[in-house]
Amino acid sequence: MREFDQETKLTVITGAGFSQASGIPTFRGKDGLWKNYNAADLATPHAFKKDPKLVWEWYKWRLNIVLNAKPNTGHLKLAEVEDQGYDIVLLTQNVDDLHERAGSRNVIHLHGEIRQARCVCCGDRFSWTIDLLENTEDVPKCKSCNSFYRPDVVWFSESLNHNIIQNCVDRLTITNVLIVAGTSMVVYPVAEFPFLAKRQNPSIKIFEFNLDYTPISKIASQTILGSVEKTLPSFFSY
Ligand SMILES: [Zn+2]
Repeated sequence: MREFDQETKLTVITGAGFSQASGIPTFRGKDGLWKNYNAADLATPHAFKKDPKLVWEWYKWRLNIVLNAKPNTGHLKLAEVEDQGYDIVLLTQNVDDLHERAGSRNVIHLHGEIRQARCVCCGDRFSWTIDLLENTEDVPKCKSCNSFYRPDVVWFSESLNHNIIQNCVDRLTITNVLIVAGTSMVVYPVAEFPFLAKRQNPSIKIFEFNLDYTPISKIASQTILGSVEKTLPSFFSY
C-alpha cells in the first residue's frame, strides 16, 4: 500500500459513522429517541439511580441491535490490514464490538463496551449474549454482592478512564500515519487527539474519511468524503 510499510505505526480513530454504516443508530438528534426519551435522559448515573429498570430496558433494546448487526466492509478492511502484519491500533468511540467481530485485535474503547455489564459495587463484569438477553427480564444483579449491574460504558457527566486516555496518548506520540474515520471530531478528548499527534510529529500523515469536513480537516493531508464502508476499502487497495 502506497502510504505504508512495515515500519509504519498506523493509528485509526473511529466513531459513530462506522456503526451507522452497519445499521446502528447514532443516538443523536432524532435517531436517539426511544419511547420519547432521548439518550441524554437515559445515559446518566442519575437516570440509572432513579430508574435502573428503564435504563436497562433501553440498553437491552440497543444491545439487541448491536448483537444482530454485522461488521461492514470498513471494519473488515481494518482487520485485514492488521492480518497483513501492519502495526495498527484502533482508538474507537464506539461501544459496540464490531471491530472485534471483524477480526481487529488492537482495539481501545474510549467510551466502554455495551456488551459488558459491570457491578456498581464490586466491579465484577459479565458479557451479554443473545440467549442471556432474551431470558433476562429484570435488572441484572451481582451474584457476589447483590448490587445492580450497569452497562460498562461511559455515561454523560462521567469521566473517561485515565489509563485508557494515557494509552491513547502514548500511542499517538509514536504514530506516523493517523486515520480519522466516521467521526465528527467534536467530542473531547478525542477531538484533540489529531492535534496532539501533529504536535508530537509535525511530519505525520493524517487521512480523514468522513461524510463532511470536520475541525481536523485543516490539518489532514487528505480528506476523503463519503461513507467509510466505501471510502476506506478503496483507499487501502491502492
Ligand atoms: Zn458485585
